[in-house]
Amino acid sequence: MEDRHERENARRPATRGRGRRRGARRIAAAWAVLLVLVAGVAIGVFLVVRGITSKPTTPAKTPTAKSASSTADPYAAPDGTTPPVDTAAAEASTAGAVAVVPTGNAAAAAAVRFPNPPAIAPHSVSGLHPKHKYVAITLDDGVPFDTRILDMFEARGWTATTFLLGSMVTSQPKLVERLKADGFEIANHTWDHKTLTKLSDAQVRDELSRTQAAISKITGNQAPYMRPPGGGTNARVKSIAGSMGYNIVLWNKSFADTSGSATPQQCAANALKNLQPGDIILCHWGRPATYGAMQILLPELERRGYRVVTVSELVADSK
Ligand SMILES: [Zn+2]
Repeated sequence: MEDRHERENARRPATRGRGRRRGARRIAAAWAVLLVLVAGVAIGVFLVVRGITSKPTTPAKTPTAKSASSTADPYAAPDGTTPPVDTAAAEASTAGAVAVVPTGNAAAAAAVRFPNPPAIAPHSVSGLHPKHKYVAITLDDGVPFDTRILDMFEARGWTATTFLLGSMVTSQPKLVERLKADGFEIANHTWDHKTLTKLSDAQVRDELSRTQAAISKITGNQAPYMRPPGGGTNARVKSIAGSMGYNIVLWNKSFADTSGSATPQQCAANALKNLQPGDIILCHWGRPATYGAMQILLPELERRGYRVVTVSELVADSK
């Protein structure tokens, strides 16, 4: 009896305890359902809000929006990465686009286009008078290539316009990617350095469009500048280049580093002679005297308060 009583007494609190636990479980379950509902509503609201707010931010990637920034790439394609397709819709959607005459295959035709060309006089860039102490050192060919020169530019945060051969761009894409990442302006120097005045119209177009396709494949853009090999040009070449949207960029100072007997001191002296803001200096990436000349020239330009910039920066500062 006493045992049973004790057992009952012992059971009762247990029964009451189970009842309380069941009640607590029901409350907990109710809270869980409520929390799931609240979380669901919160996620739904977040997704709706994100859907609304993400739409206005998308155009910020367009060149129009980017052009407000001083660091924007003026030649970037509308999506910032790939060249625009050669369609009427793309043309209509790209304000200020200059159509060019397609000459090669569809890929080349799509690549050879200026999404957002700078407003400069066609066919030639010369006689620039920038507001700042700017000069452009233009580095040509790309074969051979001396990365020590690129190191020197990187160390100073300076950039330049480089007129590369399409054949070099295709064979050394990593170098071109590095140039692009550094902010160099990569421009057209034809495919294989033929003298354009000796080629047919179709051959001139082919030299330029093949090279541009190779450049655009890596950079996703194109500079509106072309330098004919050896500076060899005439009215016909100018007309063809102009029809493809190119400004021909020659030079008013030269290292003369293609001469086998040139010394670094002579090359640097050639560049520094009567130097003034707006000068466009010609040299080459990997001639024997070029690196030594840069070791003299770049510190001297710094000492005189000059900054080395791209051709488009020189043009923009000269307006
Ligand atoms: Zn050249």
